Amino acid sequence: MINSARPLRARIHLDAILHNYRLAKRLAPSARALAVVKANAYGHGAVEVARALASEADGFAVASVGEALELRESGIANPILLLEGVFAPKEIAVVDRAALTMVVHCHEQLDWVLSARPSRLLDCWIKIDSGMHRVGLAPEAFGASHARLAACPHVARLVAMSHFARADEPGHPYTRMQLAVFERALDGVSIDASLANSAAILAWPDAHRDWTRPGIMLYGASPFVDDVPAATDLRPAMTLESALISVRDLAPGEAVGYGGRFVCDRPTRVGVAAVGYADGYPRHAPDGTPVAVKGRITRIIGRVSMDMLTLDLTGMDDARIGDRVELWGKTVSANDVAQASDTIAYQLFTGVSRRVPLIADSARIGS
Ligand SMILES: *Cc1c(COP(=O)(O)O)cnc(C)c1O
Repeated sequence: MINSARPLRARIHLDAILHNYRLAKRLAPSARALAVVKANAYGHGAVEVARALASEADGFAVASVGEALELRESGIANPILLLEGVFAPKEIAVVDRAALTMVVHCHEQLDWVLSARPSRLLDCWIKIDSGMHRVGLAPEAFGASHARLAACPHVARLVAMSHFARADEPGHPYTRMQLAVFERALDGVSIDASLANSAAILAWPDAHRDWTRPGIMLYGASPFVDDVPAATDLRPAMTLESALISVRDLAPGEAVGYGGRFVCDRPTRVGVAAVGYADGYPRHAPDGTPVAVKGRITRIIGRVSMDMLTLDLTGMDDARIGDRVELWGKTVSANDVAQASDTIAYQLFTGVSRRVPLIADSARIGS
């Protein structure tokens, strides 16, 4: 079977994702952990990731009813949380049918839950805005909203949740403030709590509570700019790799690619890899962004094209067409590529485009 006319692929290391999930559990041993698999598991293939974790995961978290149904239809029976709840009251019928758990982050959603007539009891996570100021009930509104849901005959379990704006800045007072606001909102209410994304799992033990919500760490990228000790045990879960499709020698003064952004200042061997911005490689990657050829780190030179990437092979006399090029993975950290390109690994992973085949270490992902 021909998967792709190009040598480009994203290899997905499901064993690394399992390792990273176990690390999240080990770091917060008294909490259960919802594996966040929204956005096709950050580009890693939601169904395959969920299957790899299903026997151990306390549950999964997704961004929409559609993402949840994809998992249910592939046989995933673990609890599934809709991180933004439902977007319209009619979706509660799907929540009911597929046994999903909803976030309730606003008064409209609260009313939809109360006026629903589900066939079974609904579980809800009440989201409090402790300072992110995106979604969530005002802290002062939590008590009354909780009381209405707790009194509702078709509502079963409740969890209080919130989300941090700056957990990736270890020790930052804003996260302490959010923790305090959350505490105050819950005052006197006995309820399970969930606050921690990956950064908080790794750097904010006070935030672990009853349920954690690891996302990016499952995929092996640290959420921090600087080194944080616990993050060194993460294993990269995606290797974006391609091959050289051209090797040529240029003279000093010759320019490479669109706009002539890179001009050779010495005799330069230039390789072309079959990958470009249409595959999700960041077009803004500057000269010097790391890339590996046959396991050796070099740099990109010249502007990223739609389907091609030019790189510096000077000194690699043995480089040939067909040689393996790693864009990110175990040799080149996705965070280093992201930082060079003024973005984050989250965007690189979720931006890998549909024409790039996802290949699990053991099998091809999807159809
Ligand atoms: C996406 C998301 C997470 C996971 O965040 P990471 O930084 O990837 O760990 C956790 N909680 C909520 C509400 C989210 O939307």
